[in-house]
Amino acid sequence: MSDAVRDPGGDPRLGRLLDGIVKLAAGELDTRIEVDEPRDQIDAVIMGTNILAEDLQVIYQELEKRVELRTRMLHEAHLKMQKMAMTDSLTGLYNRSALVAALNEAQATAEDGGPASALLLLDLDAFKGINDSLGHSTGDRVLTTVGGRILESVREGDLVARLGGDEFAVLLPNVTPAEASTIGNRILASFEGTVEVEGKHIRCGASMGLRMAEPGQTAEDLLMEADIAMYESKAEGRSKLKVFEATMLHARQLKNQLIGELKDAIFDNQLVLYYQPIIELETGAIEGAEALVRWKHPSRGMIMPDVFIPIAEETGLISELGNWVLRAAVEQLRKWRADPVTGHHNFSIRINVSAADLQRLEFIEDVRDILGEAGLDPALLVLELTESAVIQGNDLDRYTLASLRRLGVGLEIDDFGTGYSSISYLRKLPVDAVKVDRTLLSALGSDPAQPALIAAVLQLIRACGLGAVWEGIETADQAEYLRSIGCTSGQGYYFSRPLPEPEFTEKLANNKSWPVAG
Ligand code: C2E
Ligand code: CA
Ligand code: CA
Repeated sequence: MSDAVRDPGGDPRLGRLLDGIVKLAAGELDTRIEVDEPRDQIDAVIMGTNILAEDLQVIYQELEKRVELRTRMLHEAHLKMQKMAMTDSLTGLYNRSALVAALNEAQATAEDGGPASALLLLDLDAFKGINDSLGHSTGDRVLTTVGGRILESVREGDLVARLGGDEFAVLLPNVTPAEASTIGNRILASFEGTVEVEGKHIRCGASMGLRMAEPGQTAEDLLMEADIAMYESKAEGRSKLKVFEATMLHARQLKNQLIGELKDAIFDNQLVLYYQPIIELETGAIEGAEALVRWKHPSRGMIMPDVFIPIAEETGLISELGNWVLRAAVEQLRKWRADPVTGHHNFSIRINVSAADLQRLEFIEDVRDILGEAGLDPALLVLELTESAVIQGNDLDRYTLASLRRLGVGLEIDDFGTGYSSISYLRKLPVDAVKVDRTLLSALGSDPAQPALIAAVLQLIRACGLGAVWEGIETADQAEYLRSIGCTSGQGYYFSRPLPEPEFTEKLANNKSWPVAG
């Protein structure tokens, strides 16, 4: 600025005025221009400028306050949204993304030499049934209650999350394996298989897996391996905590491969039926056969049903598999009966039916159509169902059972004696017979009380008007004991292992019978 502008006419006030305006314009709103005694218009302009500056400053301060308030609101909304994105809206627990973030953070801390953490996964066993039978709102209450129990059982600083559905997870930072197990068991004990909701005690067992975090593992690794351990717990079905072991991973890998291969197996004729004779104990003659499926795997050799039936059930392939078994068994029976060499009178065939089959209405049609096509009397086909499928069944199961009965096929409870049948249940069940589980026989000979127990079971079955096949007869003594107390039918390695079709056909053709009476 030139001196002429700074000091026009030599009045120093004009210089100060100009300086003041420049400062104010630069945003220094607390600038005030010095004025002594107001004398003339220049002083009036200076005073006016000062008043303007005062107003500007007030307006500016208010604006700043408003901006500050808005910023705070925005920040709070952001936090709320962040929390919502991290929270499970039903239970108020953390959600999967929150857990994954926390797991990754815990792993990063561990890498820097921090303490180890552990991951617990918990899954309710019968939640689908609860939802289906008691409704979704009760189901939601069950989930909230379970979430609450978990929270009460963990330490401060542990992170509890619901991962979706009926699956919960707990991240336990800074914990030893023993402590982690203790906490896991405390959670399981906190609802001991039942929760109270709306005055009802609802059974809901839980399966739990534990994975101690190892350095370098990602959240995904940990979740996957805790899931594998939880899966083992579920397979045992006893609400027990399972700790992850490396062998479980190999089993899972094999399983994953089998899942991929099973579908082809069903349609590529890799399945075969073996037949185990059912023996009339009085005469030792064959009165029927149980068809047992095997998988002739092109590279792994023979795979037993205990391995792949659970896989088929889990992956939903069980209906295709069941349909294949039904078709193959009925077709085989038709062949045996049509052949004069093997066409035994009233020789019947049993197949194992999975609980999932009862859930399909088409199953009734399949049975009717397949029997119709083969021109066979439905009474020659006996369906073996597990006790749990029949007893815990829902309306659809009951409908299917009743329809199958009307068709005239035989219905039999498999593995009888391992479940929960009470007499009152047993009398009401729409079945004709039971297949007594082999565990009842296995103690015969070693436990002196066993004969009396077996006799009592026989009485019970008779009192309910049911027939019985005794499974797992492995010795001549067992066969003779059963015959002596009046059991009519038996099955087991003593007579024969399950046989491939040609060998079974040979036994039929030769009218093979076994010695029973001692
Ligand atoms: P399950 O229905 O209880 O079948 C009897 C099992 O006991 C068979 O095993 C049979 O080989 C075995 N067994 C027979 N006699 C004796 C004996 O005297 N002692 C002993 N220790 N065991 C004996 P397998 O063939 O391995 O079948 C296992 C299970 O797989 C069956 O148990 C059944 O639950 C299931 N399964 C088999 N075939 C099918 C099928 O076609 N469909 C379905 N859904 N399940 C099937
Ligand atoms: Ca069976
Ligand atoms: Ca059985």
